[in-house]
Amino acid sequence: MSDHEVLHVRGRVLVGPEDVRDELWCVDGRITFERPAGEALEVTGWALPGLVDAHCHVGLDRHGPVDAATAEKQALTDRDAGALLLRDAGSPSDTRWIDDREDLPRIVRAGRHIARPRRYIRNYAHEIEPADLVEYVGREARRGDGWVKLVGDWIDREVGDLAPSWPRAEVGAAIAEAHRLGARVTAHCFAEDSLRDLVEAGIDCVEHATGLTEDTIPLFAERGVAIVPTLVNIATFPHLADGGEEKFPRWSAHMRRLHARRYDTVRAAFDAGIPVFVGTDAGGSLAHGLVAQEVEELTKAGIPALDALAATTWRARSWLGRPGLEEGAPADLVVYAEDPRADVRALAAPHRVVLRGRVIA
Ligand SMILES: [Zn+2]
Repeated sequence: MSDHEVLHVRGRVLVGPEDVRDELWCVDGRITFERPAGEALEVTGWALPGLVDAHCHVGLDRHGPVDAATAEKQALTDRDAGALLLRDAGSPSDTRWIDDREDLPRIVRAGRHIARPRRYIRNYAHEIEPADLVEYVGREARRGDGWVKLVGDWIDREVGDLAPSWPRAEVGAAIAEAHRLGARVTAHCFAEDSLRDLVEAGIDCVEHATGLTEDTIPLFAERGVAIVPTLVNIATFPHLADGGEEKFPRWSAHMRRLHARRYDTVRAAFDAGIPVFVGTDAGGSLAHGLVAQEVEELTKAGIPALDALAATTWRARSWLGRPGLEEGAPADLVVYAEDPRADVRALAAPHRVVLRGRVIA
C-alpha cells in the first residue's frame, strides 16, 4: 500500500477502559477522530492501542547476543502478535538500527543487564563488583531509553539458594545516579530477600517479583513500585527446579514454592494497588509473540479482564510515557474480530495489526 493511504477503523474503538468510540482514522501514520476527505481502506472490529510487552529481549537468545537477522525475526514475531511497543529488559546486542525500521515495533531499551560475576546467565550481563555499580548504571542509563536493568538476585552457589546480588549502600547510590540521569531502574528478582533493600533504595520496578510477601507488598504499594510478573516464564520454574535438584536442593525447593504461590502473589499485589504490567520475558529461553498468553495468565491469577487488558494497553503505555489512541498520536493499533473485554483470549488472534498507520499483512 502507498504511504498516504487512509485507514478507517470502525466498530468499537477502545480509547480507554471507559472510553469507547465508534471510529477513528489513520492519516499519514497518525490517528485522527475527524473524518478526512477522500477514500479510505475500511477495517472493522474491536480496536486497542498497540499492545505493550513490558519485559522482552530483542537481540538475545539462550546463548547470548544474536545476529541482526535473528533479532529482526524476534521483533517481527512480537509485531505479528500485536505487541507494537516493547520494553527491552536487557540485551547485549546493539539493536538501535530497529528504530529506523518503519515495519518493526518500537523499543524502549534498558541497555545491557548488570549482574555480579557468575551470578547470572552466561554472556548476558556486564558482570561487575558492587564498587563499579554506579559507573555501569550511569553508562547503561546513557545507552538505553530511560531504563536500567539490574539482576537483583540469583543463585549463590556457595549458599545453594537464591541470594541478593547487591549491598544496600551501593545499589542506593546506583539508583540515585540513574535517576539523576533521567532513567528509571528495574531489577530481576525471584526471591524474597532483595526486595526491601531495592525498594528502600528507590527502585522503580521489579521483574518477576515472585518473592513478594505480606511484608513487602505494602512497601511496594506505598512507593508505587511496579511489577512485571512474566507468568509465562514463571511457568518454567518446576522444569528449572528439576534440572538443579541434585546439585542445589535448597534452591530447587525454593523455586517450587515461588511457583506454587505465583498466582496468589500476583493477585495480592494487584489487590494492594501495586501497578502490574504485562511482560513475557521473550528472548532468553522463551519464544517471542506470547503477549496474549501472558494477559490470559494474569486473568488466571485473578486480575479482572479489563485490568489485564489495561496492563498491556492504556496503563502500560502511560507508564512508559507513550500515547495510546489519541488525536495526533502515532497510528499503532490492533483490531480484533471479537471483544477482548469479554474474553482476553481474543488477543491471541489479531484481525489486523496497524503499525505507523499501515496494515501489516
Ligand atoms: Zn528477562
